[in-house]
Amino acid sequence: MVKKYILFIVLTLFIITAVKSQDTYLGDGPFNQMILRGAMLINGNGAPPIGPVDIVVENKKIVAIKTVGFPGVQIDDTKRPKLQSGGKEIDCKGMYVLPGFIDMHGHIGGVAQGADSEYVFKLWMAHGVTTVREPSGRGLDWTLNLKKLSKKNKIVAPRVIAYTGFGQGSKDPISTPEQAREWVRNNAKKGADGIKFFGAEPEIMTAALDENKKLGLGSACHHAQMSVARWNVLHSARAGLTSMEHWYGLPEALFDDRTVQDYPLDYNYQNEQHRFEEAGKLWEQAAKPYSEHWNKVMNELIELDFTLDPTFNIYEASRDLHRARRAEWHEDYTLPSLWKFYQPSKISHGSYWHDWGTEQEIAWKRNFKLWMTFINEYKNRGGRVTAGSDSGFIFQLYGFAFIRELELLREAGFHPLEVIRAATLNGAEALKMDNLIGSIEIGKMADFVVVEENPLKNFKVLYGTGAIRLTEDNEVVRVGGVKYTIKDGIIYDAKRLLADVKKMVDEAKAKEGFELKQPGN
Ligand SMILES: [Zn+2]
Repeated sequence: MVKKYILFIVLTLFIITAVKSQDTYLGDGPFNQMILRGAMLINGNGAPPIGPVDIVVENKKIVAIKTVGFPGVQIDDTKRPKLQSGGKEIDCKGMYVLPGFIDMHGHIGGVAQGADSEYVFKLWMAHGVTTVREPSGRGLDWTLNLKKLSKKNKIVAPRVIAYTGFGQGSKDPISTPEQAREWVRNNAKKGADGIKFFGAEPEIMTAALDENKKLGLGSACHHAQMSVARWNVLHSARAGLTSMEHWYGLPEALFDDRTVQDYPLDYNYQNEQHRFEEAGKLWEQAAKPYSEHWNKVMNELIELDFTLDPTFNIYEASRDLHRARRAEWHEDYTLPSLWKFYQPSKISHGSYWHDWGTEQEIAWKRNFKLWMTFINEYKNRGGRVTAGSDSGFIFQLYGFAFIRELELLREAGFHPLEVIRAATLNGAEALKMDNLIGSIEIGKMADFVVVEENPLKNFKVLYGTGAIRLTEDNEVVRVGGVKYTIKDGIIYDAKRLLADVKKMVDEAKAKEGFELKQPGN
């Protein structure tokens, strides 16, 4: 019965999506040959920008990267790669070219949020995201279908890496190691790329991770409070988990004078304010930065080749609700259904603003500092940190939130080039796809972000709404916004995708006479 109901919803959504489809635009290409001319290249491996370079792509793959001159010196055209007939040239003079971004934590919309895949995908693609790891969504079949459509270029979408929520689709809750192993084998058989865990009892986690590791699939875990006292990040990493999401389970691994979080005695995990307010005091309960225990845990995680995917941005409203709530893109790009989902609620996940004020925000600011100190030092000691967004909750909008994540990695102490590497090559490595994507190298797929400004100087130029600048003539202008997102050798006009999203939002608003208002007004 439940299955039939889900099928009905999926079909209905599919039909609605098909009927509502705003724009049949599927990008341009791929071409037998494509040359990006005269670009400033940021290759994603931590190297500084270099240019002008010509990047040559043949049949979706990079075949040549040629430095063609010096700054301020006329380029000698005779020494440049030649355009073949049927080839496509893009003039990238003065523009920056980066590897396509990898969002390691991207839920493809949600039923409760009323965000369908077309809306979400276009927002991601408009912000340079060419690969997304879906950490459990509406079911594996649904995700695998989108993955296939994306691969065949039948829809505008990033490359989809499908992780299934542990136990998703199982008739009964998984309560024995044997059941866990069987579910993991089935998940692989069905074609999933990995598993997203939310924590479970130790014997279940051990069995599931062991089986999954044998099959060579990826794994991610949000160590939720209900199981974390017995199984934290360190247990997971030792058992073979490949990446942790957010930060839960890490302070718990760092406890040196307690074994459970200092829960107030009237705490209830079903109360979203309890959950998020108390989480904001958690890092202060962990071992102090650079203490013996802190060092020991960090070093062991690095030795285990464990990936941290912090998703800083999704917690930003906890330290500055006003900022997240009033972000300028909400007016044009946030769907009415999504806006309603964000409002204070006892039911919606992450809408914990029952009574959120100065005290909660200050606690969270301290929480962020300790958390960022760990993440930055983890990177400094050779640990892998990736960029993930987890949008669709807590006032964080798809695509925009990914760029905000880059800014927060910068705030944590990363050099802008380290930020770019986290958002590209590190993600590819964590997905074991660094032979194909993650940096601009010969032999890799043609996934690029092209922008008219220098993103290293200001990541805000990557926001769809651009960055604000005052001209010599005292005129206020907007600069930047990704110009082209190129995936698998197909060129997408990022601004056209954004215009399409705005149209979807305008239509949804007109239909219900919606006006975006702040909570309680
Ligand atoms: Zn998530």
